[in-house]
Amino acid sequence: MAEQELTCNFCGDIIKEDDEYCVNCGSIFVDDALCNNHEDTEADGVCVICSSAFCDKCGEFTNGKFLCREHDGYEIIDSMARVFSSNDALKIEYFKNILENEGLHPFIFKREGNSIPFKGEDYPFFGKNGGALSLYEVKIMTPFYEVQKAEDIINGLEENKSE
Ligand SMILES: [Zn+2]
Ligand SMILES: [Zn+2]
Ligand SMILES: [Zn+2]
Repeated sequence: MAEQELTCNFCGDIIKEDDEYCVNCGSIFVDDALCNNHEDTEADGVCVICSSAFCDKCGEFTNGKFLCREHDGYEIIDSMARVFSSNDALKIEYFKNILENEGLHPFIFKREGNSIPFKGEDYPFFGKNGGALSLYEVKIMTPFYEVQKAEDIINGLEENKSE
């Protein structure tokens, strides 16, 4: 008999029977989880970026994802968070390849909206002929659980360059 698939009550993501929390939204399924900062306070959720449990004073659900105070500034799309952004398409491609070689799963996100008509020559990658392109940044997103590793790698690359 096929095992029945369990899903998170909050976001509908697939979970395993012994999961203590949902990696997709940070909902906690156990009763005894405590806040990382307050040992006597029950945790409200698990930050999807750092996987630590926090109470409602130390973190909160934003658009259905639990984030701690340290990580609540992340730009989030679906189950991915932005780790880097640039107007430099070559740099984005380069970083993406490096992250992939490290076994991560980067995803390049281009915001198609909010583009403005642009007729200059400052953006050689986009619309030199006056297309309605640019000024939009390209983002590298990774799954939540890869964010911290991806940032370490990217920070390392940026530091090497400036030495
Ligand atoms: Zn969930
Ligand atoms: Zn966090
Ligand atoms: Zn707390």
